[in-house]
Amino acid sequence: MRRHEAPAREAAAERTRSGARVAGTPVQRQILDLQVASGNRVTTLMLQREPGPDGTITDQDELVKSRPVGGAVDKEYRDQIIKTLLTAERSTTILEAIRKLRGDLDFPLIWSARGNFHSGSGISLDRSKNVPTWLASMAHELEHLRAHLAGASANVTTMGREEYVAAQMTEEIGAHAAAYVAQLQLGKATSSSAGYNEFVGLLKKDHSDLLDGKAWATIEGLAKDFVEKKYKTTWTGSATGKNYYDKWREVWDAAHPTGK
Ligand SMILES: [Zn+2]
Repeated sequence: MRRHEAPAREAAAERTRSGARVAGTPVQRQILDLQVASGNRVTTLMLQREPGPDGTITDQDELVKSRPVGGAVDKEYRDQIIKTLLTAERSTTILEAIRKLRGDLDFPLIWSARGNFHSGSGISLDRSKNVPTWLASMAHELEHLRAHLAGASANVTTMGREEYVAAQMTEEIGAHAAAYVAQLQLGKATSSSAGYNEFVGLLKKDHSDLLDGKAWATIEGLAKDFVEKKYKTTWTGSATGKNYYDKWREVWDAAHPTGK
């Protein structure tokens, strides 16, 4: 802390001396310098309590106050995210399916302190992030929500071990590929979605004809292949640090202590 304050104090003193052209005794100057420096600290604190220019909040107290875990995501954010996703053909298909299954689009959307994820009938958004990040995550999590509402999710009770793992991963890969396509349709050159930037780079290099021709179904197929390879070889769960296939095997094993 001290190390960061020292240069700021010097800079403030500089401004006071040159900007306001303050004369006076060394003590008077010192007091003025201190006033400027403490003013800067208060300003910094105030800025941390407001969302930054990119919409993120870094101040923990402010996060607890304005984005409480389990609290509903602000309507303005919710509306902005859904309105934008409804301009992407791929997400529109998913949202319309959800609307049909539920009767509306008023599914629970709540703040989380541990990332973006789907659970049961709702979706949780990382309260420390911002609209572009939430948009990227929602494009993925909405497909999980749709599958859940349609009763198409993997069932750990009724399915066999490998059948269960395959069903979980098919849904996961499908959700991620759908999110890629939705974001391509939104014209996103880059995204916080895992692997998106690399995939778009490959697509532009090797399959620019598909992009030009908006061959979305073909692109989604390529996205699935790309994502599946990542899940099999590179990507691990953020909470567990484990390979996804192994993670789901463990979930099944925990639900079937006798192995049957
Ligand atoms: Zn997922």
